[in-house]
Amino acid sequence: VNEREPVLPEETGESGEPGSSGEPQLGEQVDFPCPDCGAETTWDPELDALACQYCGHRREVPRSTEEVIERPLEAAGEAARGLGLELRAVRCDECGATVSLERVATASSCVFCGSSNVLARESNRNALRPESLLPLDVGREAVMAGVNRWIRRLWFRPSALKKVVSFEAVGVYVPYWTFDTNAHSDWSADAGHYYWVTETRMVMVNGKLRPRVRQVRHTRWVPAWGQRDDTYDDLLINASRGVPDALAAKLGGFDTSALVPYRPEYLAGWRAEEYQVDLEEGWRVARERVIETQKARCAGDVPGDTYRDLRVSNALDDVRWKHVLLPMWTLSYEFKGKPYSVLVHGQTGKVVGKAPWSWVKIALAILAVPALALLAVLILAVLGG
Ligand SMILES: [Zn+2]
Ligand SMILES: [Zn+2]
Repeated sequence: VNEREPVLPEETGESGEPGSSGEPQLGEQVDFPCPDCGAETTWDPELDALACQYCGHRREVPRSTEEVIERPLEAAGEAARGLGLELRAVRCDECGATVSLERVATASSCVFCGSSNVLARESNRNALRPESLLPLDVGREAVMAGVNRWIRRLWFRPSALKKVVSFEAVGVYVPYWTFDTNAHSDWSADAGHYYWVTETRMVMVNGKLRPRVRQVRHTRWVPAWGQRDDTYDDLLINASRGVPDALAAKLGGFDTSALVPYRPEYLAGWRAEEYQVDLEEGWRVARERVIETQKARCAGDVPGDTYRDLRVSNALDDVRWKHVLLPMWTLSYEFKGKPYSVLVHGQTGKVVGKAPWSWVKIALAILAVPALALLAVLILAVLGG
């Protein structure tokens, strides 16, 4: 494995803050120091507090009941930028994810794909600040237990896989956009009503022509039109590179009613991916999804048994967005020198991921099918005398 220490980029003229010239002093400054011993405190999802691992000091971070702001699309310029705390970031050349981590932490591999092809850089201070996040609900122990259970339940995997226990789970907040909008759709179509006609046909049977009666389906087309209004609330759009859409879909949805206003404290000790799909692109994806959904809903409104030539025109208004961070755990394990990534839902604990196949077991299973079929035939033959 080509393991190399991430290299910090050369300082550019842009960040002219005092003390930021040259290499940042890693490990000296911490974002949330413990008031008792000065060590780095981290956010503990089970305690809802910043906790110090060294002296046990705790500072409560109550989950705020404040309302989460949702902005209109054109107000992106007014939104806060950056994460509100000093972070470094690591960019993965393999999957393209950029993940922020605390200054005291080091990362030599990508939390998502396990690639060691990572490069350290400053985290993007200009990125839109998350408006809210879902705090992690599933703790480290539950994640490890869940992953072990997941591995044991997989089919056709090498038996040695069950003994792979050396993995370290990393809690990471994954960026999403949410959109709210009202959709008004006008539609027109030809509604098709089925009716049945009895037809008699002459067919050749044993060399003779015989009449054959059958029912034939016909469609009567009638013009139809209508309109409908729908509201969309918290339509989630994946803004991550580390978690591809297909994997995110497998992982399942998130209960956004548990969103709390963002506080930098929640990131203490956790990683956060920077969004790679920007607001504009996010809205484009969301808009397409709304239009698709509206089209399907209008199709359902067309009376009769079928339809053709459906035309839908949509007006979307009162578009509101927010940038949210959703909790996941990532881990990768090695099996016979190859890395495999696993993702755990930070709210439900659901595990999705890759695991090696055992070709021997698959081959045995394939061979077993005809063998079992043969056995069944033999048993039936014996029972049948
Ligand atoms: Zn302490
Ligand atoms: Zn990666």
